[in-house]
Order: sequence, then C-alpha cells, then structure tokens
Amino acid sequence: MMYEFKVSEMAEEFGVHRNTIRNWINAGTLPAKEGPGRKYLMEFHEYERLCKKFGREPHLHSVDSVSNRARETLGEIDVEPLVISGGKSVLPEDPSWADECLTCGTCASACPISGVDGLDPRKIVRMAVLGMDKELIESSWPWKCTLCSKCEESCPANIQITSLMRKIRGARDRARVPEPIHKSVTMCLERGNNLGIPKEDFVFLCEDLGEELAADECPGFKTPVDVHGARVLITVNSKAVFGEPDSLKWWWKIFWAAGESWTLSSEYWEGVNWGLLSGDDEAMQTVVGRIVDNMKRLNCRVLLLPE
Ligand code: SF4
Ligand code: SF4
Repeated sequence: MMYEFKVSEMAEEFGVHRNTIRNWINAGTLPAKEGPGRKYLMEFHEYERLCKKFGREPHLHSVDSVSNRARETLGEIDVEPLVISGGKSVLPEDPSWADECLTCGTCASACPISGVDGLDPRKIVRMAVLGMDKELIESSWPWKCTLCSKCEESCPANIQITSLMRKIRGARDRARVPEPIHKSVTMCLERGNNLGIPKEDFVFLCEDLGEELAADECPGFKTPVDVHGARVLITVNSKAVFGEPDSLKWWWKIFWAAGESWTLSSEYWEGVNWGLLSGDDEAMQTVVGRIVDNMKRLNCRVLLLPE
C-alpha cells in the first residue's frame, strides 16, 4: 500500500520545515518518489516507520483512498486543463497548483536575476494561471532563468516554478530554441557528445594524457577506459576534452593517489545533459539512459557526474 503526501502536509504533520522533508527525500532518508500533481508517494510501512520514529500514531491515508476522493471531487468540478494551440500542456497535469499562488512575491525576492529585462517569477506564474501560454513560450524570460530553484525553495505555497520554466522551454518549437543549446542537444543525440568528438579521438587523447601522467608524476598510471568491474564510472564534459584536456589530469591524479578503482567509457561519456536546459525531456532521458547503460555494461557501482 502506498502513502501519498504533499511536502507541506508532511512537514506540518511532523513539525519540521518543508526543506527538511525535501532534504530527507533527496538524501534517501525518506524513500519517496514523485507522484501525480505535486505529491509524493512512498510505501505505507515507510510512513509507519517515520511515525514510530517521531512517536506518533499514523493516520491511514492510502493512495487508493486519495485517488477515489480526487475522482469524486473532479466529478463535481468542471476542471479545464490549460493547453496551447498544439494541444501540448505547458503546466503540470494538476491545474490547481498555480491557483495556490498567493502573489506574495517571495519568489521574486529570492530570484538572483529578478528584474533583469523585466523577469519576475511571480509574473510568470500569474501568466500561467491566466492561460497566457503563447506569450510565455514566446518570451525570453524562461531562457534567462538559471533554473536555480531559489524561487521554488522560498515559495510558501510550494509552486513548482522551476518545472514551469522547463515546461515553457520544452513547449517552444525546437527550431527556435537558442542556437548553442539546440545545437548541443542535437549533436549529443547524433554523435554521442555535445561537441561531436569521435570515439577514437577521445580514446587516443585519454591514453596520451595517461602516458604523460605516468612519465611525470604517477608512475605506472594507465588511463582506465572501458574497465569492466571498476567501482566508479566517471563522465566528462566535452568542453574540457576539447579546450582544456590537461584539466582532466587533476582528477586522475587524485584517483591514482587514492588507489580508486574507476573507469571512463569510450562511448557516451558526455556528462553535460543539455536536454535539462532545453526542456527536452525525451533528449534528457536518452542521454541519461546511455549513462545507465554504460553503468550496466561495465558493471560499475558508483556514478560520478562532475558536471
Ligand atoms: S512565492 Fe509562491 S506564492 Fe508567492 S508569488 Fe511566488 S509563486 Fe506565488
Ligand atoms: S529558478 Fe529562475 S526564476 Fe527561479 S530564482 Fe532561479 S533564476 Fe529566478
């Protein structure tokens, strides 16, 4: 049986701050995963375990009962999801989330680029509530946003502003995504890394750097490429490979000194996922999937994403 909760509800229930709950989830202390709307799901016995830890009685609140309640409620209310002309929803599936905005402006105060070319996260949320999808998609604001989530972290109503920014980015025609971002995504999908560096060039460079290290400071060093069973798989920023290859050696020296068991993959080694920034979930998923495949193929247990 699953337990469904909102971060704010859980925080109130256990008398801690919302950020504490989020930290628990991120750290795995609270084994929950994202559910529908702005809710989370976790095994009911995990909820019971938490209650026990806090010395309180759990109240039964399973996902089935919540879903039934939601269905009953939605049956009574005429809820129209906001959609853009192409039929693609900009907002998260649960249209009620933005209605919870208090227009308090806390997000605008927290945003490090608030005011730059008129950007204001509160304004963006209000536009979304008002269904101004076309204006939002045409706007440059979501592309100026750094996706730092400071607005979301400070929002008393838990509005998912960062997700909204990504949704708006993702809804823009791909041909009109800012060129450097779009080019990096397509290059990565087509050729395996953001700069299209061929496999043999990458492997040659790594081996060459390894030989330099062995000769200079790390006797016996050999760059581990495609080492099956290595403990750590490391991804690399293609810009470092292209522009500052010597910077890779700093990492390698540390691993060598620590006696770490690690490896690079000869393919799909890119560590920068521009699909995240372009709002392209499909591309992001493909790039992540490749890294997961590398983990499985090489039987590694730890992934290091320096980017
Ligand atoms: S902080 Fe949250 S509730 Fe306040 S204006 Fe911003 S989005 Fe709305
Ligand atoms: S995620 Fe964007 S809108 Fe929110 S605080 Fe960061 S830069 Fe500002």
